[in-house]
Amino acid sequence: MLYGAIEAGGTKFRSAIYQDEKIIDELTVATTTPEVTLKPIIAFFSNYKIKALGLGAFGPVILNRESPDFGLITQTPKEKWRNFNIYRYFVEKLNVPICLDTDVGVAALGEYYAYRSRVNHLLYVTVGTGIGVGVIKNGIILRGAHHPELGHLLIARRGDDKYPSVCPYHDNCIEGLASGSSLTARYHLSPSQLADREDIWDLEGYYLAQAFLGYTLAFAPERIVIGGGVSAQARLLPNIRKHFTKLNNGYYIYPQLSNPDLYITLPLTGNNAGIYGAYCLVRGEG
Ligand code: ZN
Repeated sequence: MLYGAIEAGGTKFRSAIYQDEKIIDELTVATTTPEVTLKPIIAFFSNYKIKALGLGAFGPVILNRESPDFGLITQTPKEKWRNFNIYRYFVEKLNVPICLDTDVGVAALGEYYAYRSRVNHLLYVTVGTGIGVGVIKNGIILRGAHHPELGHLLIARRGDDKYPSVCPYHDNCIEGLASGSSLTARYHLSPSQLADREDIWDLEGYYLAQAFLGYTLAFAPERIVIGGGVSAQARLLPNIRKHFTKLNNGYYIYPQLSNPDLYITLPLTGNNAGIYGAYCLVRGEG
């Protein structure tokens, strides 16, 4: 039985055909305009008879099933995608059952399934062009009246940090101060030039640790998994763990927090959390 999976991210769309937990074919297309990006994806899926499609989409996207606008991408900075209904598009073109959630929601789900019941509550934080967070509680992607937007959690600026935020809405949110876009705007350095700059990773770790402590206090997860392009930097995780322990200051204690190396960790799925999670969202459907 074949299932389709799409990780529709802000930078690229990754599409895959899954058979028995394995990818048998895949396609990656840059995120430009709906017309240019989606046409080759439809052609790709039309080569296979998929039973259903799992879709993890960048947002904000309306996920309220009762809403007539289910699947509508709303106030994204990517103008061409604003008010585009990504769910309806794929329903019309592929005519198969579709399960939809956010790109970070499905990435969190992918990590949850990769842990094979050893972890029930986790957060997946992607630090790339932007910052997104998926929350898993008891194996379910957490949602309220809308999906959470924890990448825009407000944090305290370090006194000497005068760089402007890259978030058009907030002067001191985590995405505005610590995303990959923020690193590029601040330093104008390539990832390899950034790699050994301990001063840079100390500040980055300080900002992410503030957010991670907030997430920890709110959700009490067993793991915080960090993915996305910036997470590949070797100095990042040690700096987040260092500041996390310092900021927590011994206040919040439970067993999973006792070892920061296990608690704040890289994905088990490597770069496959999103695509695998999109598959996990849909397998068994259709
Ligand atoms: Zn913001």
